[in-house]
Amino acid sequence: MDLDRHDFQLDDLVEKIKQNDNRLIALQVPEGLKMQALEMMDEIETETSAKVVLAADPCYGACDLVHDKMKMMGVELVAHMGHSQMNIDSGMPTEFIDVRYDGDPELSPVLPLLNKHLALAKERISNQDSNKQLSEAEAQEKFLDAVGRMAPLTDTKLGLVGSIQHLHLLPEFNDRLEKAGFDVEIPIGGARLSFPGQVLGCNYSGDDPSIGHYLFLGSGDFHPIGLVLHTGKPLAMLDPYSGTAEEMSFERIERILRQRFGLIMSSQDSQSFGILIGEKPGQMRRTLALRMKRMLEKHGKKGYLLALEHIGPDLIDFYPVDAFVNTACPRIAIDDAVRYRKPLITPFELEVALGEKQWETGYMFDEIP
Ligand code: SF4
Repeated sequence: MDLDRHDFQLDDLVEKIKQNDNRLIALQVPEGLKMQALEMMDEIETETSAKVVLAADPCYGACDLVHDKMKMMGVELVAHMGHSQMNIDSGMPTEFIDVRYDGDPELSPVLPLLNKHLALAKERISNQDSNKQLSEAEAQEKFLDAVGRMAPLTDTKLGLVGSIQHLHLLPEFNDRLEKAGFDVEIPIGGARLSFPGQVLGCNYSGDDPSIGHYLFLGSGDFHPIGLVLHTGKPLAMLDPYSGTAEEMSFERIERILRQRFGLIMSSQDSQSFGILIGEKPGQMRRTLALRMKRMLEKHGKKGYLLALEHIGPDLIDFYPVDAFVNTACPRIAIDDAVRYRKPLITPFELEVALGEKQWETGYMFDEIP
C-alpha cells in the first residue's frame, strides 16, 4: 500500500480543536494506517495546543469507537480516522476524519469480467423459477449453492460500490461505465452506512433486486466475500492501489458455505452454548443475544451470555460449552471459524441448527442493520 498517496483531511480537525480549546484528544487510526499515526500526532500537536494520545488497540471499523474509558483519562475529543459515522453513540464527542487514496485505476482491465457477469445476470433473469417445491436434499443443495439462493432479479444493473477511501471515485466511474454501455446503480444503504456506494463487512443493505452484478473499487477480499455471500451475485474487483482486476470466485464462496454447513451440522447435537456479546459500541446486539438464549431454552438447551470487548480463541475456547454463537462482529464467525476448537456459528446458523429456519431459505448473511 502506498501510504504517501493517502490524503488525511486534518484541517477540519485542527480547526475544531482550536475552536474547542481542547487540551487532550485521542486519535484512533485503522490498522492499515497505524504506521503514519505518529506523523499525524506530530502534526496535530504542532498546529494546536492539544496533546494527543493514540488509542493504540486494534481498530477495524467505526463500530469500535473509543468510548467512556478515555473519559477517565481526561480525553475531551476523539478523532476517528478512515471510517464513517454509524448509527451509534459512543458517549464521547467524536470527529470523523476522511482518508482518501488518490489512485485512479484504468477501467479496461475489468471490462471483460463485467461483460461476462452481465451475461450471467441476463441468463439468470431468464431462468428464474422461484415457485418450485424442494425436497430436503434439494434444499440442502440450494443452501450450499453460492448463487442458487439469490432472490429473484428484476433487472441486470451493475451495482458500483467501494471501500471508504475510494468512494470519491464513484461518480467518475459511474460515467465511464455508462459510456462503456453498462446501466449503473450506486446503491444507497441503511442507517449504518453514511455514503452512496459504501459497503461494510457487516452491512450490504444497498443491494436491491434490480442489481444483477457488482463492481467493487478497493483492495483485499474482505468486502467482496461478504457482498457475494450476502447477495449471491457475481462481483468484479478493481484495485486502485495496483490497477489490477479480478473476480470473486463462486468456488471460494461455496467453500465457505460448505464450511458453514458443516458447522451447523456439528452444532445440532450441542447441548450448551456460549453466546458472545460484543462490548464495542457498534457491535453490541444485546436483544439478539437474549433472543438466542430464549430460543436455546425453548429447545431444552443451555445458553451462557459472555460479554467481551475482543474475541479470540484464547479468550473463549476453555469454557466448558459445546459450541459458541456469536452476536458481535459477524465476520468473526465467518472469517475466523477455523481458529476456534469448537463450532462458532452465527445467530441465523443457530436457528437452522435448531430447525427454526429451513435450509431452503438459502444462506442468510449475518447483517448488523
Ligand atoms: S464488519 Fe465487524 S469490524 Fe467491520 S464495521 Fe462491521 S462489526 Fe465493525
